[in-house]
Amino acid sequence: MIRHHPAETTLFACAAGTLPAAHAEVIRVHAALCPACAAGLALAEAAGGVLLEALAPTAMAEDALARTLARLDHVVPAPAPAPARFDVAALASGRWRRVAPGIAMMPLLRRDATDSRLDLIRVAPGRALLSHGHSGAETTCVLAGTFSDETGDYGFGDCMETDTALAHQPRARGEEECICLIAVTHHLQPKSWLGRLVRPLLGM
Ligand SMILES: [Zn+2]
Repeated sequence: MIRHHPAETTLFACAAGTLPAAHAEVIRVHAALCPACAAGLALAEAAGGVLLEALAPTAMAEDALARTLARLDHVVPAPAPAPARFDVAALASGRWRRVAPGIAMMPLLRRDATDSRLDLIRVAPGRALLSHGHSGAETTCVLAGTFSDETGDYGFGDCMETDTALAHQPRARGEEECICLIAVTHHLQPKSWLGRLVRPLLGM
């Protein structure tokens, strides 16, 4: 069962196209697994469309707002897809790059104009990432396994959003390796000298 969801403001930003592409990908993957967020995203997209249509170049009709709200009442979110597990075997056959013992990465989107990148990261049971802070947003969706950090436990489909206020050390839990889709803007800020030494290897 999915317990961690992106903020409503994130769903709206995703629908409005104002999220960096890497973060939007993570949100859309989460929404593909989460009927509640799929419905929220569909509603946000529909609301955006209706509001854009209501934008008149000159003065709006007095009843424009009432009519817009009335139309929103009739917006029917797209049917939510049934949650499906990722094909972990297929994921595991991809081009992984080992970056540390028990940790491998697969870059999916290179750093773009927003200084954001998208990667798959795969962590062996019991292994932890570097303890780190953030100089920008980080959005994660768990595709297999479980990880824990200072804020809680995250399992299949869970979405985690962090900002510059959080420092954490995610660790893979349980018997299964943990595979996450992760978008990072700017860079992780390692808390240890070892972390600072290996961060360039991660490229994150
Ligand atoms: Zn959700």
